[in-house]
Amino acid sequence: MDVNFWAEVNRAAGRKVSHCYQCGKCTAGCPVAFAMDFKPHQILRLLQLGRGEELLASRALWVCSSCHTCSTRCPCHIDLASIIDTLRFWARRRLPSSLRRGMPLFNALFLRSVRRYGRVYELGLTVQFNLKGRKVWRDVELGRFMLTRRKLRLLPESVEDRAVISQIFLAEKSEEQ
Ligand code: SF4
Ligand code: SF4
Repeated sequence: MDVNFWAEVNRAAGRKVSHCYQCGKCTAGCPVAFAMDFKPHQILRLLQLGRGEELLASRALWVCSSCHTCSTRCPCHIDLASIIDTLRFWARRRLPSSLRRGMPLFNALFLRSVRRYGRVYELGLTVQFNLKGRKVWRDVELGRFMLTRRKLRLLPESVEDRAVISQIFLAEKSEEQ
């Protein structure tokens, strides 16, 4: 990995990753650690060992819900949630093909929906995800059940001030460059 990668990781961390002493409090508090291939403290350990490349193909990046529990609990004040955000940016740059399936694809479609409407259009997101994943009939029964009980909207709804949402995405894009 090049120097920019390590500079960005350390900037996101707010502290040097070497300060992590593997206490595991981040993993203990993480609500989705059970579904991660690399647990939060293991992400730090791999970064300490200079093995950032391995993390870019990791499932953990896309499982993370950015709840910031790990960052809040860390006794060393390492901002792991922001590190994971940075790793996602790098995964998009380095592994664009992996974004065409599974959780990275879901993440990309989710963000596209938020960018367009200011909130998630759940029905559209599900249909797109299943079409791109070539599982056209997946969730059809569940979707019908939820539609009849008005738990899903047939048409998208936009927030009033979409300009604010656009600004957030523009700011994120300029940070990525
Ligand atoms: S809580 Fe902080 S110090 Fe402890 S393992 Fe996690 S990142 Fe390292
Ligand atoms: S921000 Fe991600 S890694 Fe940290 S506790 Fe939340 S879900 Fe887990």
